[in-house]
Order: sequence, then C-alpha cells, then structure tokens
Amino acid sequence: MSRFQTPNLKDLVPYVPGEQPREQLLLKLNTNESPFPPSEGVKQAVAAESERLQLYSDPTCLRLREALGAFLGVDPDEILMTNGSDQILALAFSSFGDAETPFVCPSLTYGFYPVLAGLYHIPYETIPLRDDFTIDPAQYEGLHKNIAFANPNAPTGCALSAAEVERIVAANPDRVVIVDEAYVDFGGETVVPLIHKYDNLLVTRTFSKSYSLAGARLGYGVGNRDLINDLNTLKYATDPYAVNRMTAAAGIAALQDHAYYRANCDAIMQTRAEAKAALEALGFCVADSRANFLFASHPDMDGEALYKALRGRGILVRHFDDPAIHNYNRITVGTREQMQQLLAAAETILKEGKV
Ligand code: PMP
Repeated sequence: MSRFQTPNLKDLVPYVPGEQPREQLLLKLNTNESPFPPSEGVKQAVAAESERLQLYSDPTCLRLREALGAFLGVDPDEILMTNGSDQILALAFSSFGDAETPFVCPSLTYGFYPVLAGLYHIPYETIPLRDDFTIDPAQYEGLHKNIAFANPNAPTGCALSAAEVERIVAANPDRVVIVDEAYVDFGGETVVPLIHKYDNLLVTRTFSKSYSLAGARLGYGVGNRDLINDLNTLKYATDPYAVNRMTAAAGIAALQDHAYYRANCDAIMQTRAEAKAALEALGFCVADSRANFLFASHPDMDGEALYKALRGRGILVRHFDDPAIHNYNRITVGTREQMQQLLAAAETILKEGKV
C-alpha cells in the first residue's frame, strides 16, 4: 500500500483470476474458456473494424443491442453492453447496494460477488447450499435484500429451473435479484423473458464462454428499462466507451454465426456427459453440471495434491483455497481429445497414489 491509498480500500481483498500460464504447452482447463476458436465471420469482422480504430466506439452499442434484442426477444433499451459481464456485475452491485442495503448470495458461488461487496462497502450475507451443492429456493423468499447468484452456479455447475428462479424473483419484489447466466448456453434455463414480468430482475450474460470471446471482453445485462437506465447512468459516469470497436463488431458477427456456436455448445455438453461418466468410473464424485465445467473430488486423493499432480503432467485445472471445497477441483470441459488426456493423467496419478 502506498502512503496515498484511501483508508476506505485498506481491507479490500481483490478477486484472484485463474492462472494464465506463459507456457504454451499446458493444457488449459482452468478458466472455463471455449476450446473452439471464434467463427470465421468474427475474425473477418474484427479485422475489418481494426481499420477504424482511430475513431471512438459507439458508447451506446446500438447496432449490437439491436442484433441482441432481436435474438433474445427484448427491446434494445432493455440491454446494456459492458466490458465483460464482470463490468455489468460491478455496475449492478454499486447501483443497488450500499452500507445499509446488503446483498445475499449462496455460500458457494462466483468469487467476484464478495469482492464487489467489499469494494462498495456492501454487507455481504450468505445462505448455505444443500449438501448436493444445489441452491434451495425456499431459503430466498421474502428476504427484503438484494440477491445475486449464478445459474448455472459456479464453481459447481448445478442449476435451478426457470420456475425456481422465478419463485425467488417473485418473492423479493422490493429488491433487485441478479441472475448471472454466464453459463446458461450449456444446458441451463434462461429467465430473460421474465424481465417483462418482474421489474426487479437483472439477468447478466457474457460472450466469453459459449461465444468463444473471453479475450474480447463482452458482457451485458438485460432488465427492465428503469434498471438499465440506472446502470447506464453509472456506466456513463465511469466508462462511457466500455466496449471497444473490435469487440462490438465481434459480438454482432458472433450472433450472425449463431449456428456455429450452438454446435460447439452441443459438442461441449456431449463431451461433459462422457467425461463425467469416465471420472465417476475412476471413483470421482462429480456434481451435476449444466455448465462448461465439472466440479469433482476423489475420496482417495486430496484435491490440492491432485491439482499439483495434474499440473506436473501439463494439465491445468482450478483449485480453490476455500476450506469448504478443498477436496474439489473445477475442470473446464474442453474437446473430447483434451478430456481423454485429462482422464488418462488422472487415472495414472490415482494408480501411483495407491502404490
Ligand atoms: N459470472 C460467472 C459465474 C463467471 O464464472 C464469470 C467468469 N469468470 C463471469 C461472470 C465473468 O465473465 P466475463 O467477465 O468474462 O464476462
């Protein structure tokens, strides 16, 4: 800390992103990126847009919101585009929470939420998950507090049905409910259509995972016009050109190439089912995932030891410091070949561990 930092930030604990290794040879299954490259249409659109980088981007992202609105069945005014969905989450926490207005989240969920609460001095309260890692919607009724959760949840992959999410939104009409649908394209049920029924629902989404654009940083929020206006006010107060030209062009082209991305998501879901069965055959306990990752533990091997042993064999998965999930690793679902490599390594490590 320098002599100049405000005491307000003295206790801030930042988010710890997954490792982005320099070694190209590592098989990266640690940050839930897509194993598939962007479509040809996206590459061409980005190259063409790079010719115009001397000009600022459109701060309203109008063309992108029009394309996305048509795709989602909502009005462009019900969408706000941001620099990754982390930014829409940050805008939402600071717009709707303060020292007297807490956020309630599941005890195990996306690690960025408590960081945002800390940054904006928002009390952060948690509700435990059930033993099988699922969220119990009954525990979220009538809280009179803001609520945020990921659906499918991270790092477990477990999902609530749209009806269960609606129950939570309907039971908290006096506060905002943020439903983070970063992983919804891998088998979750979206609640986007419910924004026309509930003015307290904000759905956040990203192009990072299912649209292979993690490096482009494109996310968005969908909600009632008034909610979106509040978030826009804050966006224009901090980062008007949040989405750069090449990223906006990539988003429009990605929506046009939707069939390519849908096929990739379907392939990932198929590989997920095969990898889950194969891990279970090796004795792993694997949560029921609707996301592009599997959350797994093994009764015979410490989670951190497995993480290190895999790393030693060139495979990077995500292990979390949280003692409650010490024995677990989160494994991104890659291609079928990548998962076979992971499974072969896990099998060898388990055999060696037993010698
Ligand atoms: N929500 C969840 C649940 C996530 O796991 C992530 C990825 N770290 C994000 C949001 C943010 O993703 P991005 O900022 O790349 O859109």
